[in-house]
Amino acid sequence: MKTSAATPPTSLSPSRAADFMQCPLLYRFRVIDKLPEKPSAAATRGTVVHAVLERLFDAPAAERSAGRARGMVAGEWERLLAKRPELAGLFTEEAPDGEGGIDSARLAQWLAEAEELVERWFTLEDPTRLEPAERELFVEARLESGLRLRGIIDRVDVAPTGEVRIVDYKTGKAPRPEYADGPLFQMKFYALVLWRLRGVVPRRLQLVFLGSGDVLTYDPDEGDLRSTERKLLALWDAISRATETGDWRARPSKLCGWCDHQAHCPEFGGTPPPYPLMIQPRLPEPRTSQDPGAESEGAAGRHQGS
Ligand code: SF4
Repeated sequence: MKTSAATPPTSLSPSRAADFMQCPLLYRFRVIDKLPEKPSAAATRGTVVHAVLERLFDAPAAERSAGRARGMVAGEWERLLAKRPELAGLFTEEAPDGEGGIDSARLAQWLAEAEELVERWFTLEDPTRLEPAERELFVEARLESGLRLRGIIDRVDVAPTGEVRIVDYKTGKAPRPEYADGPLFQMKFYALVLWRLRGVVPRRLQLVFLGSGDVLTYDPDEGDLRSTERKLLALWDAISRATETGDWRARPSKLCGWCDHQAHCPEFGGTPPPYPLMIQPRLPEPRTSQDPGAESEGAAGRHQGS
């Protein structure tokens, strides 16, 4: 399969940061090797639902009804399909002559599930009383260290007092409280970027889980965002080291079941493709005249760390 030319990473987004934390090898496959992945029905449904929730605000406030939103689902699917015709394969059934046709019952079921998610949103928020300041906002900020952070925020609301609320829609279910750190980390990432760009700490982070009908909110302070920044810098340091040495560890977990790259993963008997970037030799630690054994210890240290 053809992949685009490999280049070292130059910025970090919440999804790629989450990839590295889940499994460094997965990050490599996605960011450096750029291995293709099969589209999934769940992710595609998420894209359609996000498009409906974004475009519904084009209508005047009083007309933003659940019925209108449900009615937009099929149109947003058609619009997405026109841009990415390969998505039709999600609903294609194999015919005996090898030709495929759309399995219309499966497609109808999938569209009905998307409509259900859209409808549930009306039990959680009231779009007739909202006027978002931004929708699908692309943000990018450079930290003092030079690290570039970027991402797309689903919705930004600004109160008349100037207080900012960042809102993200999830089509899945809310995690149990002990697993809420992951989605909150993504929100703190966005809050840090907006803080750096606009000089104001967002007042509230709001996650809307359409799968279970839950809303999770968190009010960050400067301390939270500084600690998020420290965590991101440490993460970027680890990513830079792995980029340089080519040492990307596989970290198996129950999430491997959703990974498209098992065929290339040593944990599943596969072999990664040849590393496409130049591996930089690591410099030896500086040694002093009082430390005659420094060179061999340094070499052992490098061996262990690689
Ligand atoms: S299968 Fe699991 S361990 Fe292997 S690359 Fe994917 S996420 Fe990582």
